[in-house]
Amino acid sequence: MTRANNLGPYDGSIMPRRYTLCVMFQSRSIRHCRACGGEVTYRVPADDNRERAVCARCATVHYENPVNVVGTVPAWEERILLCRRNIEPRYGLWTLPAGFMEIGETTETGALRETEEEAGARVELLGLFSVLNVVRVAQVHFFYRARLLDTDFAPGPETIEARLFTEAEVPWDQLAFRTVRETLVRYFDDRRRGHFGVHSADIA
Ligand SMILES: [Zn+2]
Repeated sequence: MTRANNLGPYDGSIMPRRYTLCVMFQSRSIRHCRACGGEVTYRVPADDNRERAVCARCATVHYENPVNVVGTVPAWEERILLCRRNIEPRYGLWTLPAGFMEIGETTETGALRETEEEAGARVELLGLFSVLNVVRVAQVHFFYRARLLDTDFAPGPETIEARLFTEAEVPWDQLAFRTVRETLVRYFDDRRRGHFGVHSADIA
C-alpha cells in the first residue's frame, strides 16, 4: 500500500478518505481543478444528469466514481491468515489482506500485491470468492480465495502481526471491517458444505 490507509473507516466499510462524505452518493470532495488549479463548482453539465465537479476557469469536468478494493482469504490447511492493523483507522483490529487496486493492475495482481505487502505472504489464487458493494463510501471489494505457499510471514509496516486462525479462533469481535466479516462468514459456511461459490452482497 502506498497510501497510509488502505481499508478504512465508516464501520463496515472501508477506507479513510481525506475528506468527509457530505451527501450520500456525492462526496463534493474536489475543490480545485487538477488541470489548471482553478476553483470548481458542483453542477449538472449540459450533457449529463447528475452533479459533477466542473472547473469554473477551464470547464474540465472531474468525474468521481467508485474505487476497487482487492484482497485475499489466504488459507493454510484448516487455518486462515489475518493481519492486525498497525495503522488507523481500526488500529489494532484484524483484517484480511486487502487494499486499493492500483493503475496497471488486474484485480488478481492487486490482490496478490496486497497480500505480499501487508502479510509478507506468498499465495496462489484459487478463484474469486466475494464481491461486496459498499455504496455508502463508493467502493467495491473483491476477495479471492488463496492457498498459502508457506508460513514464513513477514508483515509490512502496516501490520503489527500476521497469524493463522482456525474458525473457532477468529477474533470476530475484533475484525476491522464489515466486508472482512461478511467474507469470512461465507468462507467458513462454504467450507463446511464442501463447495466454494462466488458471493455478492451489498453492505449497508
Ligand atoms: Zn480548470
